[in-house]
Amino acid sequence: MSQEQYRKALEIKAAELSASLRNREGIHIETASDMQDEVQQETERDLIVTSLDRDSQMLRHVRAALKRLADGSFGVCVDCEEPIGAKRLAAVPWAARCLRCQERADENGDGRLAADRAGGALIAGAGRAFGLGRL
Ligand SMILES: [Zn+2]
Repeated sequence: MSQEQYRKALEIKAAELSASLRNREGIHIETASDMQDEVQQETERDLIVTSLDRDSQMLRHVRAALKRLADGSFGVCVDCEEPIGAKRLAAVPWAARCLRCQERADENGDGRLAADRAGGALIAGAGRAFGLGRL
């Protein structure tokens, strides 16, 4: 993919995320005022908050990638400054790190909620929802 194609893909992704974040904020309010079972309500609220967290984090990644496209550093790992593989960029255009550095960041914990591990984070969030919740 050309830089221009990446830019388009990232802009579409950013627009999608902004729209879905706005939509869910609406659902959030609706759910809170509903006459639901309190535990269920809390669980749902927790799941919504988790997915809002995840998507706003993702949006930050996408915007950062657009910034890197603008300043010419797109496609270069922010840690080791080696080029990020084309296959990885095609799958995760907002990736800031090469696969090796991303794995290391994940292990160290500072890559927690890394964009391309967001699915796992959601599952972790769902697990937490059935525990003591966020409080
Ligand atoms: Zn790297």
